[in-house]
Amino acid sequence: MAHTNRLYSVLFNKCPRCGEGDFFITKSAYSLKNFDKMNKHCPKCGENLVPEPGFYQGALYMSYAFYVAFMVIYFLIFVNFFEQYLDYFLISIIPILILLTPLFYRIARRAWLALFIKPAEKKVIP
Ligand SMILES: [Zn+2]
Repeated sequence: MAHTNRLYSVLFNKCPRCGEGDFFITKSAYSLKNFDKMNKHCPKCGENLVPEPGFYQGALYMSYAFYVAFMVIYFLIFVNFFEQYLDYFLISIIPILILLTPLFYRIARRAWLALFIKPAEKKVIP
């Protein structure tokens, strides 16, 4: 018996229960029209992906944590390896954060739901 991996489902747009059905309808975070459209139920196992109205307000805290973690890592890379170019840190951080917004939006929602849903056990055929 193996478990569907939570990290896998968060990173690869999968349902946290079965790890097979898609979470958002589009694969790309940069599809301008549909990047934020979710499946209400997992197309594979039928898991409810919107447990209650307003459930995803909690994902705001998730994305906040991702932004902070990203900025700290990005800053540490600059300080340690590109100290003479530190000005570029300030110049580049805003457009980079704007570009990351749809990506973090999606990852935060998947991570938030994955906190509450236990991955299903999978039968492994030897
Ligand atoms: Zn599923």
